[in-house]
Amino acid sequence: MIDLSKYTKQLSEYFLAPGNILLICHINPDGDAIGSQLALYHYLKSMGRSVDMISPNNLQEFLRWMDGAGEIRIFTKERTLCRDIISRAGVIVLLDFNNTGRMGEAEEYVKKSAAAKVIIDHHLDPSDFGDLLISDPGVCSTAELVHRIVTAVNGSRFINKAYAEALYVGIVTDTGNFEHGAYGPDTFRTVADILESGIDRDRILDLVYNNFSADRLRLQGYVLATKMIVLPEYRTAYMTLTRDELKRFNHVKGDTEGFVNMPLSVKGVVFSALFIEKEGFVKLSFRSKGKIPTNEFATRYFNGGGHLNASGGEWKAGLDETVTRFLDALDEFRELRQD
Ligand code: 5GP
Ligand code: MN
Repeated sequence: MIDLSKYTKQLSEYFLAPGNILLICHINPDGDAIGSQLALYHYLKSMGRSVDMISPNNLQEFLRWMDGAGEIRIFTKERTLCRDIISRAGVIVLLDFNNTGRMGEAEEYVKKSAAAKVIIDHHLDPSDFGDLLISDPGVCSTAELVHRIVTAVNGSRFINKAYAEALYVGIVTDTGNFEHGAYGPDTFRTVADILESGIDRDRILDLVYNNFSADRLRLQGYVLATKMIVLPEYRTAYMTLTRDELKRFNHVKGDTEGFVNMPLSVKGVVFSALFIEKEGFVKLSFRSKGKIPTNEFATRYFNGGGHLNASGGEWKAGLDETVTRFLDALDEFRELRQD
């Protein structure tokens, strides 16, 4: 875990500087992207600051209930307004990503802007961008890092229910409800602060995890029953879904979230992959147990990246060709694995 004290002064200056502060998260925002964005929003608003929020694209249903989510402007829906927000920002805070390409269409305008840029993130290998980079791959989520930053800048614990709820969503979703990821004793200190803020934990979990369609559950049953291939010699399992299959189950964005984790519950399986057919490319997700570096695998073979145990990539080819590449890569990668 990094020492934040060397950033506190500069951060306080940015947070108190005159002008608007813009908080921007990554494309296809997950619970941690929106959770860390909203948590920082609630803190800065409580300090009387003028704060805007942008997401490069739409929020999924399971995040829309969050306090303040309605204030997040969606770049692909309100381009003119978002360009205007970016151009008038004095400070732009980038949350939960470290590669400017993850801002979608907003990237070009953020890059052009004269605003001071702060990155708050927990992914590996940050790119050299911005005026202040606070990157800590040792925390479980950007939300956890935001809580530590806010506590440091505030000088004491900041207690606010909407803030605590947002943090909790970030932490819970990035750890799979404390199943994976870089969570440790400090995560639980943050969680203790959150729970003491009086949040309704059961309600939040219900809104995040029990918010799907019946079709989504059927799709999950279908993919597990008929599409999961286990390769015992590689201690690996993978699943594929075509566009037609997704259509058959009335797929909406986010429906396949979490599917890639499920094969890891098979005894002996330590590496899991999910292939989703898109128009002109395949979206890949990788998960692993222990020290198997899925991010190295994703970077090396599929132009992707991510965390040690959770990563992804995209490949511009058909599904069959991508699976063939995956199987060849698995063989080559066997020597690099330490399991
Ligand atoms: P997921 O499998 O949930 O889509 O992604 C898991 C993690 O992998 C993300 O949090 C992100 O860090 C990383 N990731 C997913 N897709 C990509 C990609 O196309 N490129 C890069 N660099 N990282 C990705
Ligand atoms: Mn995250």
